[in-house]
Amino acid sequence: PRFSDYRLSEDIQRALGIMKYESPTEVQQKVIPLVLERQDLVVKAQTGSGKTAAFGIPVTELIEWEENKPQVLILTPTRELAVQVREDMTNIGRFKRIKATAVYGKEPFSKQREELKQKTHIVVGTPGRVMDHIERETLVLDKIDYLIIDEADEMLNRGFLADVEAILQELPRDRVTMVFSATFPNDIERLCQKHMNEPIRVAI
Ligand code: AMP
Repeated sequence: PRFSDYRLSEDIQRALGIMKYESPTEVQQKVIPLVLERQDLVVKAQTGSGKTAAFGIPVTELIEWEENKPQVLILTPTRELAVQVREDMTNIGRFKRIKATAVYGKEPFSKQREELKQKTHIVVGTPGRVMDHIERETLVLDKIDYLIIDEADEMLNRGFLADVEAILQELPRDRVTMVFSATFPNDIERLCQKHMNEPIRVAI
């Protein structure tokens, strides 16, 4: 399979070429067409499988550039992963001029508040800091169309599930939700059942 098999614009294909992504990995082959159809997805995949681009490529394709409010929210368990995902999304979206912002603890709130005042299509963040921005009304959620919960089992391990639940309560109901996790303990299964709309399950 090739990336040109999917309905991806020239801007995205060109970025993948520069990133030296020649053919889609297994998780990308399964996930990209389903996201382009706006399906809710529960994906069992490990780090290193290419899972970031599996959601990053189709979501970047679907973003409406003209919209000034954030359309995509990506929750990650760590600051390092938030920064990595922000980089990947920026690279995939470079020719579409997609703007991604990362928010996480241990960095001044005020710097992130200023960034969020600018146009940004994608917000990537750790649950605690995302919740802070929601409560202080520095992050507007009413145009969020896509929610991605990355490494959900790590969220659980680090005690972030209550924050994730609180964020879910604040999001528009009419959205696409994707959950990526290496394992699916009961608490994660329950979260999926409660907050997703007939998700398709994909396992790698
Ligand atoms: P991830 O599982 O998202 O952490 O990705 C693991 C690594 O694979 C990262 O360094 C990506 O840049 C790289 N990668 C992802 N998709 C592809 C692809 N289709 N071709 C080549 N490298 C890729």
